[in-house]
Amino acid sequence: MARRRHPTFQYSIIPLAPSTDSPRAIDFQLVVEFPRRFNNRLMPRILVTNDDGIHSDGIKFLAEALSDLGQVVVVAPDRERSAISRALTLHLPLRITRLGKDVHILDGTPTDCVLVGAQFIMKRPPALVVSGINRGWNLGEDNAYSGTVSAAIQGTLLNIPSFALSTIDMSEEAFRRAARLARKIAAEVLAGKRRLTETTLSINFPLGEPRGVLATRLGVRRYQPEILEKTDPRGRKYYWIGDGKPADRPERGTDVWAVKNGYVSVTPLMLDWTDRTFLKRMKPITLDGV
Ligand code: MN
Repeated sequence: MARRRHPTFQYSIIPLAPSTDSPRAIDFQLVVEFPRRFNNRLMPRILVTNDDGIHSDGIKFLAEALSDLGQVVVVAPDRERSAISRALTLHLPLRITRLGKDVHILDGTPTDCVLVGAQFIMKRPPALVVSGINRGWNLGEDNAYSGTVSAAIQGTLLNIPSFALSTIDMSEEAFRRAARLARKIAAEVLAGKRRLTETTLSINFPLGEPRGVLATRLGVRRYQPEILEKTDPRGRKYYWIGDGKPADRPERGTDVWAVKNGYVSVTPLMLDWTDRTFLKRMKPITLDGV
């Protein structure tokens, strides 16, 4: 059997639908489990989610690294939901598919996963929400679009300490390194040595081995995605939002600068969007003439 490069959920085979005519079919009924070292009800419970979907590598490395700190419960979208921001599914029912004792798939958004995970699947809120590890950076304005970051923000809104992780380096080594830092931060939060209330950490990893960790503010990363117009096989036009290379402004002290200079960037995000500087000098808007 070929050796898996990313074997962090242990795959076990269960005969979900014992089929006599094609017994080989059950070979692919894989149940995802990660090592469960704790069954103690007093152990802290950690909710792990992402926006790249249950099958992405990042969430497996993350869940595995956190699994010796407590009971890790994975609740992740059934497919990639990147750039879905803090969307909630209100007009469709949500369904949960259980992949293993503590691994659940939801056919919703990352924010749905945190709400349903923390309030329904886990029965009572977990001690921590960790989201990621995202494939690709969430810098500057990315944070507003990011489903990964939004999942962590939803955790914060539920008064649960929460942070999100994103990396441009998608090698196994980089994922493992990011997961180890996640574990370290998680351990500090769980031990009461690091307070994370009313703020969500957005953590980004550079390419290659980091030179260190910097606390940063959000930088500027503006996209102007091209809109592609194509024609479908039945002659109807369709449109696809393209990539659009982001125009980064790598000012010192920002997340953009940090990761481009080889540092891990840690940005605390506020829940309050108010522009206080603008508020002070804002020209009054009146009802005169309305
Ligand atoms: Mn993503």
